[in-house]
Amino acid sequence: MKLTVLLLTVVLCSLQVEAEQVKFGALCSGNPGNTKRGCDIRWGCGNYGASRKRKDGSTYKHLGLDIVCKDGATVYAPFDVILRGKAVPYRVNNAINDGVTLSGGGLCFKLFYLHPDKYTGTVKKGQKLGKLLPMQKVYPGITSHIHVQMCNPNVNPTQYF
Ligand code: ZN
Repeated sequence: MKLTVLLLTVVLCSLQVEAEQVKFGALCSGNPGNTKRGCDIRWGCGNYGASRKRKDGSTYKHLGLDIVCKDGATVYAPFDVILRGKAVPYRVNNAINDGVTLSGGGLCFKLFYLHPDKYTGTVKKGQKLGKLLPMQKVYPGITSHIHVQMCNPNVNPTQYF
């Protein structure tokens, strides 16, 4: 009896761990393993918490994780998702100022630099969400990418990759 309880506890605990380790499915055509963006000489690094500099010299933290994706590539839903409206990275508009807020996999997150086919409704995992915008026009030489940011920007999305 004690052994049965112990075994049940072990099984339930491992299920719990699995539930916490929800992982993003492939986000972009040409990058099935969700390869992360490293560092560019001119534009900094793609990791969460990377340092960024404003034109006035002040610094801030990169609050997302960048996943490699070529300009014009197809962006896929990483879970069965519900689209929750437009989300944009910049106050001043430019060619890549588009994106969407989503929920799926028990997470709420934003994807930037894509033009989604729609901003509301649902999309199944692996189906097309939209297309990556022309990032090279705005940041010449950068490793083009999708920016993944949790709705709570204090949460590091890297744990879900
Ligand atoms: Zn980013």
